[in-house]
Amino acid sequence: MLKQLIALFVLSVSLFAQSVDDQYFEKNGEVYFRFPVFNKLELQEITKIISIDKFDGKMVTAYANKDQFRKFQKTGYKVEVLPPPGDVPVEMGNPRALGLWDVYPSYETYVQMLNDLAADYPNLCRVVDAGTTTQGRKILFVVISDNVNVTEPEPRFMHSSSMHGDETAAFVNMIRLADHLLSNYNVDPLITKLVNGLEIWINPAANPDGTYRSGNATVTGARRGNANNVDINRNFPDPVQGQHPDGYAWQPETIAMMNLGNSTYFNMSANYHGGAEVVNYPWDSRVARHADDNWWQQVSRRYADTVHFYCNNNGYLSEFNNGITNGWDWYSVYGGRQDWFTYFKFGREVTIELSNTKLISASYIPTIWNYNRAAWLNLMNELLSGVGGVVKSPEGVPVKVKVTVLSHDHTNAEVFSDSISGAYTRMIFPGTYDLTFTAAGYDPVTVNGVVVSSGVKTPLDVTIYPVGWVPVELASFTSEAVSGGVKLLWSTATETNNFGFEVEMSLNGGEFTKVSETRGAGTSTESRFYEVIIPLSQNGVYDFRLKQIDLDGSFNYSNVINFENGVVRNFNLGQNYPNPFNSSTVLNFDLPVPSEVTVTIFSIEGREIEKRELGLLEAGNHSWRYEAENLVSGNYILRLNAGSFTASKKFTYLK
Ligand SMILES: [Zn+2]
Repeated sequence: MLKQLIALFVLSVSLFAQSVDDQYFEKNGEVYFRFPVFNKLELQEITKIISIDKFDGKMVTAYANKDQFRKFQKTGYKVEVLPPPGDVPVEMGNPRALGLWDVYPSYETYVQMLNDLAADYPNLCRVVDAGTTTQGRKILFVVISDNVNVTEPEPRFMHSSSMHGDETAAFVNMIRLADHLLSNYNVDPLITKLVNGLEIWINPAANPDGTYRSGNATVTGARRGNANNVDINRNFPDPVQGQHPDGYAWQPETIAMMNLGNSTYFNMSANYHGGAEVVNYPWDSRVARHADDNWWQQVSRRYADTVHFYCNNNGYLSEFNNGITNGWDWYSVYGGRQDWFTYFKFGREVTIELSNTKLISASYIPTIWNYNRAAWLNLMNELLSGVGGVVKSPEGVPVKVKVTVLSHDHTNAEVFSDSISGAYTRMIFPGTYDLTFTAAGYDPVTVNGVVVSSGVKTPLDVTIYPVGWVPVELASFTSEAVSGGVKLLWSTATETNNFGFEVEMSLNGGEFTKVSETRGAGTSTESRFYEVIIPLSQNGVYDFRLKQIDLDGSFNYSNVINFENGVVRNFNLGQNYPNPFNSSTVLNFDLPVPSEVTVTIFSIEGREIEKRELGLLEAGNHSWRYEAENLVSGNYILRLNAGSFTASKKFTYLK
């Protein structure tokens, strides 16, 4: 009996299909229809051809534009055409002005309401124009935060509704949410906490061309697709199927959201739809679970439980596992925004289906509000849990880093810190984790044993050091010979967390060993001077270096100073000045140890012209004026002897 009924049903719906001609698409843009499948695996191919809207285990409900529908008809499925869900009359007005929020706004009123919110709360709210649609409408956001005109180190949450233009359950309610947050700031403790602690982005209409398809005056006639009859929620780059999984160019609505997602990091986002009542969490495009599947289930469960409390368990939002489902478990979607944000932008986007009816009646809007208001606040509050803080360089500059949970993350589950504020938030199921912070040009930082508890954020600020960073800047490191040893002198320009210095010595190329230690200044912005005397008991080749040690035990080495047989090997003879000269010139030279100094002038051929004895000079820097007496114009060589050292310079004499 049942089989006969199904056969009759399939026969009857095939008749409907014939009426979907070119005229139908000219009038409606897209077609809404349903058909039975006998094996869920069939959906994996069907989802690549048409836009599946819902699957209840037997019946598929779907949308298609003309090209998609013609292609789908070749598969042989017999479909029943359904009336467009957007073709229902609804009451229009200004919901904010009425205060009852039970009418839909015209497009102009919608834009005005957002601008009014920003005008009414200039320190808490601003409007962001994220892009323009094919028909010239705006993809608008209101941004809500304390000090909203400053990028503070706060996680970002994005609410976005109605990318399917005919799914309006959250459209007016998102404007109401903005109004509710602003009017209850410093009134309601949770709202005050959210507005202070987060940057909240609210996009009530992600596809206004679809919602206002019949004109700006009414949402009756709304369609799923945009003005080009493209489903925006199949139009994003896909982690599995590539850049254009639907075969269509990126639409203006898609590009606007991609540009925003590329320039602004959203830690968490929610994408509101209608046509079902369920919280749908990643992934949509792959069977494997997200690395944080237990966290996703927890967050989704909390959302549904909160809603069930406020609807008195009347059956609302109870599909699948009592109101929650993994995306792939329901049906696979390619090109969806949820997986784009979650995979490509390292975010956490959840898709929430708010009503079985798509274009809900105006009088039903407040019911959706009453059921979901608390769950929306709690969802934002998730961003104030997990582990989080600010990542900065040692100079205090915010750094964009990748935060990886070791032995946990895979498939782009890592998160990033904000490039402007350095703030990061890693929401995660309660437990103990090891975190690594990485960025190109910086040494990785790993923090082990981070404990995450439920409902509170574990604070963890991180300093990340550039590769080769020397926190204590050595301004100088020199030496001079003293009786029985060597005196090492060094100075620092600034010191940060400086525990101190060790002098290390190597004799005749052997191992460096510690021969002295000196306490540092800790942290100092002034120049500091240090000196130690190292006794040397035997002749040989000595190398000295400083080991600078931070308070945390990390260390850096200085350059190496050389000694040989009690003599600093660093010796310097500068070029004489002026050169050329015609009466006298000045010679600058450095002596590592007290030395008998002789200056000899040679012809360019190497013939000695004259010799000057300068006598025993102290170690250090010396200037000596050479008065030419016996020279004719030409080029000469000047040689300086100081102990065992010799150096030569060419000069030119002009008479
Ligand atoms: Zn939808």
